[in-house]
Amino acid sequence: MSNSIVPGTLYIVAAPSGAGKSSLVNALIKRLPFVYLSISHTTRPMRPGENDGEHYHFISAEEFIARADDAEFLEHAKVFDHYYGTSQKYVQNQLDLGHDVLLEIDWQGAQQVRHLMPNCKSIFILPPSKEALQERLEKRQQDSKEVIARRMRDAVSDMSHYEEFDYLIINDDFYKALDELCTIFVANRTVTEQQKQRHDALISKLLS
Ligand code: 5GP
Repeated sequence: MSNSIVPGTLYIVAAPSGAGKSSLVNALIKRLPFVYLSISHTTRPMRPGENDGEHYHFISAEEFIARADDAEFLEHAKVFDHYYGTSQKYVQNQLDLGHDVLLEIDWQGAQQVRHLMPNCKSIFILPPSKEALQERLEKRQQDSKEVIARRMRDAVSDMSHYEEFDYLIINDDFYKALDELCTIFVANRTVTEQQKQRHDALISKLLS
């Protein structure tokens, strides 16, 4: 009985590397079928276990610059010496279909998106301690010691941006953090103004 397509909401989820953001986001995507994850473009090398088109669209620096010049990215930024960018077309298409879209991007990208789409919702995830952050970075065994040391330093400066975000989640207990994250999406999805449009046929029948 639901008929009107209500444009989806754009969400940003940011965290320092090692805060457990990707695991939380992947679990959220499985739980909430109306949320679509935007796959970013990046110039960084593929890590073991990653697949092109699944974790990122891996492209050369030349291609990235050409796409940026063609205004294909909603936002883009340089993070740890590599470029990362979000496809404007993918995001707009999904929002138009009524899907919520989740961007897993850094604070620089978040600032750009907030400026362009002020109705977006942004969430920052913090680790429970610096030790936990270091441990998670080491466990991944995907980066060299030097890269881990640099990511630890960068994590502190990333975390200093937490106040720019609408919601703050501490990833101490995974399932508690996941529940908190899902609650944000579900609560926003049930805002009366949106539900009224989504279920207009039902509501007019109920009120007739
Ligand atoms: P990683 O290389 O570890 O996958 O990601 C490094 C950082 O780049 C993370 O903070 C991640 O959220 C961020 N990132 C990934 N994709 C994008 C994107 O499209 N735009 C921006 N601004 N940051 C991104």
